[in-house]
Amino acid sequence: MKRKMLDLNDNDNILESPQRRSFFKKSFGAAATAAAAATMVSPIAQAVASGGVAAPHPSVGDKTVLYVNGKVYQGGKYKQAWAEAFAIRGNVFTKVGTTKEILKLRTPETLVVDLRGHTVLPGLIDDHMHPEMAVECYNNVRVDELSTTWDEFKVLVKKELDEHPERPWVFGANLDYLWDDGSNIKMFGKPSHKKILDELIPDKPAYFWECSGHAALVNSKALEVCGITKDTPDPVGGHYVRDENGEPTGVLRELAAHIVWEKWLGTLPGPKELGEKQLKPIFSYLNSYGLTSVSEVWSREMYGQAYKYLDDNDDLSVRLTVYATDVVDFATPEMQKLADKYIMNHRDYDGKNVKIVGVKYILDGAAAGQTAVVVEPYEGTNYHGPWRNTPEQYREGLHKYDAMGLTVHAHCAGDGAARMVLDAVEELRKKPGNNADKLQHRVAHTSMIHPDDVQRFAKLNVHAEFSPVFWYDMAATRVIEQDIGKERVQKYMFPVKPIIDSGAPVSIGTDWMVTPVDPWAAIETIVTRRGCGIKEGPTMNAEEYAISLETALWLYTQAGADSQKRSHEIGSITQGKYADFVVLNQNIFEVPITDVHKTKVLSTVLGGRDVYLSSRVKEIIDLGELTGDYENKMTFASVGRNF
Ligand SMILES: [Zn+2]
Repeated sequence: MKRKMLDLNDNDNILESPQRRSFFKKSFGAAATAAAAATMVSPIAQAVASGGVAAPHPSVGDKTVLYVNGKVYQGGKYKQAWAEAFAIRGNVFTKVGTTKEILKLRTPETLVVDLRGHTVLPGLIDDHMHPEMAVECYNNVRVDELSTTWDEFKVLVKKELDEHPERPWVFGANLDYLWDDGSNIKMFGKPSHKKILDELIPDKPAYFWECSGHAALVNSKALEVCGITKDTPDPVGGHYVRDENGEPTGVLRELAAHIVWEKWLGTLPGPKELGEKQLKPIFSYLNSYGLTSVSEVWSREMYGQAYKYLDDNDDLSVRLTVYATDVVDFATPEMQKLADKYIMNHRDYDGKNVKIVGVKYILDGAAAGQTAVVVEPYEGTNYHGPWRNTPEQYREGLHKYDAMGLTVHAHCAGDGAARMVLDAVEELRKKPGNNADKLQHRVAHTSMIHPDDVQRFAKLNVHAEFSPVFWYDMAATRVIEQDIGKERVQKYMFPVKPIIDSGAPVSIGTDWMVTPVDPWAAIETIVTRRGCGIKEGPTMNAEEYAISLETALWLYTQAGADSQKRSHEIGSITQGKYADFVVLNQNIFEVPITDVHKTKVLSTVLGGRDVYLSSRVKEIIDLGELTGDYENKMTFASVGRNF
């Protein structure tokens, strides 16, 4: 799996800017400033108690906030439903209607936000992503395999050593390709050998991923702390590259890389630091795209602790659904033990806004490169592709976890992997007392489906989660065509519309940070089946498989809510649901579909609370006296922004 750079610089969240803080000072007095500034970006208000009493909006006390003069797309099942305004009290929508209706709720105590005609959508839900991978790339030495020079690398390493003397390891990604014969790493013009790291990092273990995610370069200290010498045998499924004397060169492949990586994982900081310093910026970045709920689908135990810590402290800015990495994906006894503990005691990690709901398997590889398991062989070969986790491992897990009430999620790039899942669930359903209907075991990516299997998702109640990027025609499509042929590209890849029409449970998950997280690009391209902004030319079978903009939005909202088993709580702008919504700079229903990818989020609100406010919202107006004579003014007093 390719690891991509993450640029948090395009997160222009101004909620903690000095300007914002001074606004709070004026509005709420010095005593409230620290608390307000601290809570604005973070805590999630208490879940609505069964009696319907909502917790106070942290920025405005327990006042009702009225959002008026907007174009409010309520969402829900397929059909469009538009309103102009809504009221929020605590963390829920209390009324949705016309501006006139909502303004009737005004009292001297209510606050009013003038949306000035801007479009509002329900908060977006990304049902497959990897925030944990983002933490590891972002919070360590970030190297770009295409551009970082040796001199730049030296500076980055020095900076890491100076800034983080407390860290037991130096960890980073990504290096350009490494070579078994010691040839030069292209980006550095330096040999693929531990000695280049030893020169910079003699005293601490150091680990750098190769851009493929299938290999790594480590220094001598890392080999030493892991007890790897010339006498250490290669693990099954990997190897320590060695020189002519049998001495490990520091280049590690597959499971050998995993063994050392897992040793590093064991040194991650505790839940407080991991949560507050490393995860929160990632979630804030996600908020900047309008995301309010996400699924982390390859989770490790130490992150489970950090999610729980943040949630217990009302300090999560997304709702999280979590699938744990199965024990089979770890190479060391320490991590296998932790994975087992995480899965067996999963309820201990649940909170108000975090739910550990399942376990993840990775059945095959990627669409390009003949690493997907396919029903019919690759073009001109008898080859069907390699399994990663085997069908036997998957079936065993499916039966075991189904009985425990856990959903089994399976990465399937090829139609052969997806068919194996469908067959296994069909088999499971014959078992008395199985939970397959309730749990809706899942196929991740749904990138290639054999035509004979399209209707089986609905029939077996298997969830199809669609991942963007490969569902439109682009340069990589030509590479895939070489492997599976033009006909399979057009007929087998992302049959989104027929699967939705069949009534199968569905959702969208981007697979970030393997691929980009941007929901607006995903929404445009699932409708056009062409690249962003491209108006003509080939599509990936748009005639049969493209869906409407309404359906794309439904996939990103209500379908995601259904998938996360929160249908009644999130997914649409509906009275009684959590007030999760986004305000946009353009009405995506009015602009040409090929401009949808240009959409910018102005504000993201989670449970009634701002979690993202764009620097585009320049005008932060002063509330003044809350009981002042604003009722007759054309410009309504705002809780902090005026769109
Ligand atoms: Zn993934």
